[in-house]
Amino acid sequence: MALITGIHHVTALAGNPQTNLDFYAGILGLRLVKKTVNFDAPEVYHFYYGNEIGEPGSILTFFPYGEIMKGRHGKGMLNTTTFSVPMSSLNYWQERLKKFNVTFKQPQQRFDDEAVIYFEDADGLGLELVFNDKDNRAGFTYGHIPSENSIKGFYNVEIWEEGYERTAAILTEQLDHTLIAEKSNRFRFAATNSPGNYVDILCAPDSLKGLGGGGTVHHIAFATANKKTQEEVRMKMAQRMLNPTPILDRQYFTSIYFREPGGVLFEVATAEPGFLVDEDKAHLGEALKLPEWYESHRKTIEQAVATVSFNAEKFT
Ligand code: ZN
Repeated sequence: MALITGIHHVTALAGNPQTNLDFYAGILGLRLVKKTVNFDAPEVYHFYYGNEIGEPGSILTFFPYGEIMKGRHGKGMLNTTTFSVPMSSLNYWQERLKKFNVTFKQPQQRFDDEAVIYFEDADGLGLELVFNDKDNRAGFTYGHIPSENSIKGFYNVEIWEEGYERTAAILTEQLDHTLIAEKSNRFRFAATNSPGNYVDILCAPDSLKGLGGGGTVHHIAFATANKKTQEEVRMKMAQRMLNPTPILDRQYFTSIYFREPGGVLFEVATAEPGFLVDEDKAHLGEALKLPEWYESHRKTIEQAVATVSFNAEKFT
């Protein structure tokens, strides 16, 4: 049985938290499923965006530092996170991005059944919308984006590497992925062959090395069912001399981390227990949630993070 089922989440570094919230919940219409803090630096928010309940394959998370040095896209980095939308929403999204002054590149054909537009958030994070008709997942909407046009979750991620082989070996030999498509310098892998789980490796030997900072991805997490399967993955990583961390409690999942040979930080996160563990579905993302070990510091933490608010109607 496969231990890895696909992509769990992508985590990126951002600047202003309100700008981040307005862009992802407002312009893109993702649900803010959790507002918490960075468990390793509790003076910084941790925002989780996703579909209605933040299922694996839909979760993009941010550490919005307020002030942060800008990073640089390049090899050894996950440079583009793509979202899945219906083919019929192409005009809608082009008009919407124009309306909110988001510069985007003209639609490109990628694989046969995919049209893609590239754009960036205010910090320069690489994003795409992939227009396709093979995604059966329901999109989430706050009501300000018609549900027939709403984002369904990730489509794929794009990692740039000097060469694809060493990273591919980790994906296929340790993380239950198979090569499902390739075109010129793009190699597409998946643990489950469906939108939300595609991992594209681009051979980009001529690009500069990526540098972490604002507008770059910190890590990608792959999904595993539970702690038992996670421990099995951890053993495989240790045998491969990849130095996985111990299992860490992230409240909504548990995590292990290791760096793949090309330089990208990989995480394996459990699908359990998920974001409903401390908030009900109707109110996800509304309150600042802290793990119990930070509850006694709530006042200090609330003063340290900037107050943010979100009103979907401003983004109709
Ligand atoms: Zn993570």
